[in-house]
Amino acid sequence: MNGSVALASVRLRDPVFISDLHLSPDQPRTVQRFVRLVADLRGSGRELVILGDLFEYWAGDDEAAQGIGATVSTALRSLTDGGSRVYLMRGNRDVLLGEVFARICGAALLADPCLTELGGVPTLLAHGDAYCTLDTAYQAFRRRARSPFWQRLFLGRSLALRRAVIGQVRRLSEAGKKRMAAQIMDVTPEAIEQALRSSGARRMIHGHTHRPATHRLTVDGQSMERWVLPDWDFEAEPPRGGFLRVRGSELVATDLT
Ligand code: MN
Repeated sequence: MNGSVALASVRLRDPVFISDLHLSPDQPRTVQRFVRLVADLRGSGRELVILGDLFEYWAGDDEAAQGIGATVSTALRSLTDGGSRVYLMRGNRDVLLGEVFARICGAALLADPCLTELGGVPTLLAHGDAYCTLDTAYQAFRRRARSPFWQRLFLGRSLALRRAVIGQVRRLSEAGKKRMAAQIMDVTPEAIEQALRSSGARRMIHGHTHRPATHRLTVDGQSMERWVLPDWDFEAEPPRGGFLRVRGSELVATDLT
């Protein structure tokens, strides 16, 4: 199949790309580092583009009223009040991030995937979990978790119950990952090629796999790039975290540790 699929697109001028911060109450240093990055971006006119899994879990937008939900939304609001744009893509862990949270932050939600153009190069932005096609059990869960019917049903429950259910799913998923081969949790080349081909992009930026790298590949005789964002963990020794930015037509990885 060679036809282009009409994808949502976003116009970016001078973006900073981050993903997989996995912010939670167990990660105070990571939360602090994120708040510092946001403060540094204030007044810069640069866009902050979050490609999923900003939070370790998100039980619904009522999370924004307290704890790190409040810390993060206050930080992002100060950035957007200062004239910067913030774009939020949902990841697998914070798939329930919604319009209410985006409004509180003054941010815009991004479709996964979506297209942009960076330095003249059409670039596909995605969280990345959709391309881990060898993990068929996860892909089935992903479809269910993203269905409006299931989401409405779930969000109708109390926050305490939603958090308990998510905690249970996370424990099962952690146990499952220990048994699973590493390649099953990475993207498959076929899924990447298909996404690039059908979108007309020549470059892709995604997170999710926690395998930061720049891959060069050839699709239909055209050379293309796949940039993988790093995850963040400032509690770990040594700490991890960084972002991608654009210089000319190139992407540049910046380490924040
Ligand atoms: Mn993820």
